[in-house]
This record gives sequence, structure tokens and C-alpha cells, in this order.
Amino acid sequence: MDKNWSEMNKEMQALIAKNATFRDGIEMLLTLRKSLFEQVTQIVSTYPEEAFYRMPFAGAEGYHSKTLAYSIWHIFRIEDIVAHEMIAEDQQVLFREDFQTALHSPIVTTGNELVGDEIAAFSKQLNIQVLYRYAQEVMQSTDRILMGLEYSDLKQRFGEEMREKLLRTGCVSEAESAVWLIGYWCSKDVQGLIRMPFSRHWIMHIEAMQRIKNRLCKLARKGVDPIAYCGFSCNHCFLSEWCGSCRTAYNTCSFATVSPDGKCPNAVCCQKKGIDGCYACDQLENCGKGFYTPPNDGANAARAQAMYIRKHGKKEFLKMHDRLHEKYDFAKTQEILGQDWHEGLQILEES
Ligand code: SF4
Ligand code: SF4
Repeated sequence: MDKNWSEMNKEMQALIAKNATFRDGIEMLLTLRKSLFEQVTQIVSTYPEEAFYRMPFAGAEGYHSKTLAYSIWHIFRIEDIVAHEMIAEDQQVLFREDFQTALHSPIVTTGNELVGDEIAAFSKQLNIQVLYRYAQEVMQSTDRILMGLEYSDLKQRFGEEMREKLLRTGCVSEAESAVWLIGYWCSKDVQGLIRMPFSRHWIMHIEAMQRIKNRLCKLARKGVDPIAYCGFSCNHCFLSEWCGSCRTAYNTCSFATVSPDGKCPNAVCCQKKGIDGCYACDQLENCGKGFYTPPNDGANAARAQAMYIRKHGKKEFLKMHDRLHEKYDFAKTQEILGQDWHEGLQILEES
């Protein structure tokens, strides 16, 4: 489990367990949830549609065997049901706003009953942008419920009536792989529900989502030129777990993510010119586009690297980077190359 999230989760649990620190615990819980949700936001805003229904770990044991879309659906359906049917006893977000129609979801359940290809087929049907809005609204509405809780509410338990009510909603499948959830939730008090599903459940599934997207990026990069259009080496880039390269649809390079169309200006320009990369462009020396924008931190480093490729070729460039990275990590490399591109080029040539 991610060290930060795990520590925050532990601390949050200790804080909410005491009356004197209960409020601080809720604050910490909201901070933890915010940090986890940022991962969902990044994934939804940067990956192509197909990433959400692919199952790169199909058949494996564990949460990572599902899809990105399923994971989001599952986390927030469970939360919606528990927060609204059990704690607030009001209407679920899914029905309140008729999200089901907009989502194109054939089910209202948590999805636990789905297996194998059913998960991929279900994921393919979902409208991901609506799914994200649904997730966001569930999170915000749960956050409001959590903020309204008092320490004395933590010991509230749920009896047979709640069990029957949950069954009647039809939001948990009666399949063996799903129906146990009702018994599980009803065996907890509110404090137990805060642990699962409002915090730990998120951590487990969001970590699984990270594994899925890392794998998808790796698969996307397979057989693709590891040199970015701007002259960076994808093989040595600190973003390589997030980015599937600017030469694929899994491009999450910083300039792509901040561009309105999600495309890196250097990649677009090279494609328009029909050239392999900026290193093949006669304007490289004075170009101010994308990565080479003057105030950009990496402008000098990118230009120095592209210049190196122009002079020595890609093969030599990758070998040189292997040597350089034995001495320095990515950040340090960028720092030493980033002062002045002429000096950067000299450093690369001496490496
Ligand atoms: S951020 Fe750029 S250099 Fe890094 S992996 Fe993505 S395309 Fe390659
Ligand atoms: S003009 Fe700039 S961004 Fe376009 S190909 Fe040339 S160096 Fe790259």
C-alpha cells in the first residue's frame, strides 16, 4: 500500500476513535479522500477511451484484474449505497440525478457479480465522462455526510431491517459473489464503515487502478520509438509509469496534458512537418514551441538532448543516457542539463 496513504489512513482511524480528536480525524479522512480522488481525475483526464475497458491483468487474483471503468463504478456505487441507504437514509446519487441513463449502465448493482469478459463488456458500455461526474458527486455528497457526523454517531449499528432494506433496493446482486456485502456492511457500525468502504476500499481499488494504467502504458510503449518528439528519452523519464509515450494514444507528457486538445505542441508540429522529431528540424536552435518555450523548466534540457540526437543519432543517445543515469536520477539530469543548452550538450557529449 502507498506509504503516505497508509499512514494517513492509520492516523485518521486513531483520531476518529477518540472524542477529543474526532474532528481532526474527519478532516484527515477528507484530505486522504481528496488525494486519492486526484488519481482518479488524472486517469480520467489523460487516458484514451480504450484504456477504461482493457483488462491487462485478466484472470489474475486481485482488484487489478478488473478494468479502470469497473474500478471507478465499483468504488462509488458501494459508497453511494452505504452513504445514502445506511447512514443518511436518503436517496442515492445514482437515482437522484438519473445518472444510470446518462451512464448507459445496464446495472445498478456494485458489479461484484460480474466476471471475466462481462467486466470488459460492461466497462465498454459506460460513458466515462459521466462516470467521472457521478464519482465526483458521490464523493462530495459523502464528504458532506461525514462532516455532519458527531462522535456519538460512530457506534450506530444496523439491524435486520437494514439488511432487508438493502436487499429490496436491488443494488446488491443476490449472486453469492455479491450478496455477502450486505451482511458485511450490517456487521459494522458507522466507524467500521468509515474504514470500509470510505477509506481503505478506495486505497485498495485506486492502487489497483494505478497498476492497470502502468501496465497499459508499458504495453502501449512496446515496440514504439523510445525517443519523444522533443528529444527526451521515454526510457529514462520519471513519468514512464504514467505516460505511454507521445507517439501513442497514452500520452500524458506534461505539455500534452496542459494543451487544450491533449496533444503536445512539439508532437503536433513534427507530425505536420512529417519529420521524426524536433532533432530533424532546422528551426530547433531558436524554436519556442511546447517544451522549448523559454520559461519552461525543461526547455534547455530538451533542446540540449534534441541537439545531441541531431549530432550523434538516437542509438548513441540512448546509450549515453544509460551511462548518465548510472550517476544521476531524472531530476538531477534535467537540472544539470537545464542551465544552458550549449553547456547541456557539452555535458551529454562528455558522458
Ligand atoms: S513524458 Fe515525454 S519523455 Fe516522458 S514518457 Fe512521456 S513522452 Fe516520453
Ligand atoms: S518548429 Fe519547433 S516544435 Fe516544430 S518541429 Fe521544429 S523544433 Fe519541433
